[in-house]
Amino acid sequence: MFTKKEINLKKIDIKRVNLKQIDLFMKILGEEYKKFKTPIVTEISEFGKLDANDTDINTNNFNKNTNNADKIPFKVLISTLLSLRTKDETTAKASYNLFNIADTPQKILSLPTKKLEKIIYPVGFYKTKARRIKDICDILIKKYNNKVPDDIDELLKLKGVGRKTANLVVSLGYGKPGLCIDTHCHRIPNRWGWITTKTPFETEMTLRNILPQKYWKEFNDYLVAFGQNVCRPVGPRCYECRLEKWCRYSKKTVK
Ligand code: SF4
Repeated sequence: MFTKKEINLKKIDIKRVNLKQIDLFMKILGEEYKKFKTPIVTEISEFGKLDANDTDINTNNFNKNTNNADKIPFKVLISTLLSLRTKDETTAKASYNLFNIADTPQKILSLPTKKLEKIIYPVGFYKTKARRIKDICDILIKKYNNKVPDDIDELLKLKGVGRKTANLVVSLGYGKPGLCIDTHCHRIPNRWGWITTKTPFETEMTLRNILPQKYWKEFNDYLVAFGQNVCRPVGPRCYECRLEKWCRYSKKTVK
C-alpha cells in the first residue's frame, strides 16, 4: 500500500514525538475545542437530521435526532463537498436549504441543475459543485444501490471526492477509522515539530503511523478549530497558546 519513500518518512517522523506528548496535546486541544464552534459537517454527522424544525442555523446548533441516521453518510458527503473553499456559515445554510428540499440521491438528481445551483448559492464554485453533486448522485444510484461507499478507495473513485472528503465520510458518516487532513491538520503538526512533511498526503501517511487510532476522529475537529482561532496560518497567537512551551515553531518566532 505504501511506497518506500512513505515508509522511510514514517520511520523518521515517528521518533519526533512520543505517546505521552500526543496524549497531553490531545487533552489540551480537547479542552480548548469546547470554547469554539463545532464544524458544520461534524454537527450534521452527530445529529443526523437537518431540517427546518430542529435547526438553529444562526447559532449552528442542531438538536439531536437520529431518525434519519441512515442518511448521515450521504449528508456528510454532500455537505463536505459543499464546504470545500466555503465558510462554515455558508455551508450550513446551503446544506439546510438543500436537505430540506432533497436529502437522497434520487431527490437531488431529479432537481434541474439551475435550481440546484440556486439552492446551494453562494457556496464557492456552486456551478461546478452542482454538476459534480448530480454526477455523484447518479453514480450512487447506478453503481452503489443508492448507498454511499464506506471504503476510502471506493469513495476516491467518485469524481470530485478527494482524500479529505473520503476520510470524513468514513469517519463521521460510518464511525470507521479515517484521518482527515486539511490545511490546518497539515500545517500545525509541522509547526509543533511532530512531522516534516510537504503535502497533506504525506502528513496523512505519516500521522496514520504516529497517532493512535482513538484520536483520528477528533483530530480534524480539534485542529480545524485550533487552526482557525489560535494557530492561524498568518499571525498565530503563540502568546496565548497552551502548547507554546513544546512547540518548535514558537521557539523560532517568539523571543
Ligand atoms: S505556539 Fe504558536 S505556532 Fe505553536 S501551536 Fe501554538 S499558536 Fe501554533
